[in-house]
Amino acid sequence: MRGENSDTLTGLFTRGAFIERSGNLLQDGEKGYAVAWFNLDNFKMFNKRFGFTRGDEILKEIAGILSAVFPDDVIARFSDDNFAVFTDWASVEMNIDTVQEYLYSLHDDVTLRLRAGIYFPSDYEDIRSACDRAKLACDSIRKNHSVSSCMFHDGMSRELALQQHILDNLNTAMNNEYITVLYQPIVRLSTGKICEVEALARWNDPELGQVSPGEFIPTLEQYREIHKLDVYAMKRVCRDYRTRSDEGLPLLPVSINLSRLDFELCDVIHEIELAVMLNNIPRRMIHIEITESVSEEDMTVLNLGIEKFRALGYEVWMDDFGSGYSSLNVLKDYSFDTVKFDMKFLHGFDINKSEKAKYIISSNLSMARLMGMQALAEGVETAEQLEYLRSIGFDKAQGYYFGKPMTLDEIFALERGTETAEITRSGH
Ligand code: C2E
Ligand code: MG
Ligand code: MG
Repeated sequence: MRGENSDTLTGLFTRGAFIERSGNLLQDGEKGYAVAWFNLDNFKMFNKRFGFTRGDEILKEIAGILSAVFPDDVIARFSDDNFAVFTDWASVEMNIDTVQEYLYSLHDDVTLRLRAGIYFPSDYEDIRSACDRAKLACDSIRKNHSVSSCMFHDGMSRELALQQHILDNLNTAMNNEYITVLYQPIVRLSTGKICEVEALARWNDPELGQVSPGEFIPTLEQYREIHKLDVYAMKRVCRDYRTRSDEGLPLLPVSINLSRLDFELCDVIHEIELAVMLNNIPRRMIHIEITESVSEEDMTVLNLGIEKFRALGYEVWMDDFGSGYSSLNVLKDYSFDTVKFDMKFLHGFDINKSEKAKYIISSNLSMARLMGMQALAEGVETAEQLEYLRSIGFDKAQGYYFGKPMTLDEIFALERGTETAEITRSGH
């Protein structure tokens, strides 16, 4: 009915039509408005489990419920399972409750949670940023299952400002070398010596000081800019290696972190090959770390990528094994040379006290071994943890006990120390 302004699946407005209509209403400023943003929890999983036809039905059902509960308002499906409603501020919360209750009453056989975020824009605000804020509020309760709606607040605004700063300044930060790379030692437990290092990006911003990778990596992933950082980090690693090699200094294999998105966003294999060849670095010196949280859609692209890297002579490692729910499947579906056990294996429980914890670690270890992979434990902080890992047969370990991320010069100073001594020092 609404032609190109309407979403073909649900008949709701498209993003463009929503922005135009609600933007006009907001500017007119006749009354107070709210933007409500809706998102279904685990919609991808739902599609996987029940099929796309059932997934489409749910989306249509939500559209029907929204239209019934907000009959005179502007309603859109922005993309996938993201819905927005532009409505009266006074009744928004009550109406959100009604939408959720109605949806849940229709599906008592499956767990569906339709999260909502709310933002009250003033009449001079841009409707797009109002939508971003409502979405941010909605995203903020993704992991908090005790509530199903949330109002935007200023803390989120700071988060948004930080995200904006990261996105606006990525190029400047790379060009001016505010972003650098540090290396964390990885130790082979049978010899006690540093056998490899992991390259980790650091952002020292002139305005904000140290920005943590925990902040800039997820932001760059969310806005699909992560490949720029990863290619930059790779080039810096190659440059550091070339310089040391030219100076006749020793080198250790280095693992670099790639995001699974890199495989979609650029020809990441080509970029790495280029950096490696320009700097004349043997491929066996470079390992690729990929984190395990891969969704079904990424599988083919990622699997081809992993196979190609391995065929070219790079080792491919699985990072953060055990941090997501799909660990076992990922091990089954991909070929990795080394599996890095997430630090939560060690930190979530006291391995000296808990027999169950030991059982979990050692059975996962045997499984990785059976599949022909080496096992590395991340986040080792104490001598007791190290002793335990050694006793059950881990190949390698990494963590503050051996050293925090540091420069290559510092790594080799540390390495010289470990040549004669057993590792007893802490890296703090
Ligand atoms: P990761 O690859 O699992 O890296 C290990 C993280 O654990 C690093 O945090 C490291 O500093 C920290 N760590 C190491 N040992 C210990 C320990 O004993 N205790 C504790 N509590 N922490 C330890 P960092 O550098 O903040 O990096 C966080 C994550 O950001 C990394 O996790 C990696 O996933 C990502 N990352 C870092 N640099 C890059 C990059 O250049 N590209 C991409 N795509 N991701 C990166
Ligand atoms: Mg890593
Ligand atoms: Mg890790």
